[in-house]
Amino acid sequence: MTEVKVAVLGGSGAGKSALAVRFLTRRFIGEYASSADCIYTKHLCLDGRQIHLEIYDLCSQPQQGKLSLTDELHWADGFIIVYDISDRASFAFAKALLYRIRESHLAVCKKMVESSIFLVGNKQDLCHMREVGWDEGQKLAIENKCQFCELSAAEHYQEVVAMFTKVLRNTTSNFKVK
Ligand code: GDP
Ligand code: MG
Repeated sequence: MTEVKVAVLGGSGAGKSALAVRFLTRRFIGEYASSADCIYTKHLCLDGRQIHLEIYDLCSQPQQGKLSLTDELHWADGFIIVYDISDRASFAFAKALLYRIRESHLAVCKKMVESSIFLVGNKQDLCHMREVGWDEGQKLAIENKCQFCELSAAEHYQEVVAMFTKVLRNTTSNFKVK
């Protein structure tokens, strides 16, 4: 059994809980508790390998500028950084998070490699209210050597599964070279 820990990070309302719950239950329920941090667990089989997955959905939001994410950074093997394409402030927050993760990675020389970070532009169904261009997300991901996609937790179940699967694949392939 391989244990994989994934932290879902991003600004408040970006859709972190929606993404995690969609992946875990297939359902989009619309409203999600935001009062406490949650760790969800799931057993799954990926490429013939049994995986015990823990997903950390960070509900208590660190304020931008004083991101005290040290515990999360040490806990997680992989990261999903979520922003809302219809909310520019959430993109700025995602950018700050990426820099924070890189900084910490460089500082402590952690096991994590950049390929285990996925930048996700959520709420693609709201593209008529778009404030962040696809190319801006792509550029930020290239600058930080992480993966990138836009999707909708509300409407794109298959894309949500594909994104989580890529995160798991990259993260577990890092384990092999440890
Ligand atoms: P969190 O604070 O990052 O965990 O955000 P939530 O997952 O609680 O989502 C915040 C709000 O955005 C909720 O009202 C969700 O229903 C909504 N939401 C999440 N994902 C999507 C999406 O893909 N499309 C749309 N239209 N709304 C979404
Ligand atoms: Mg939440």
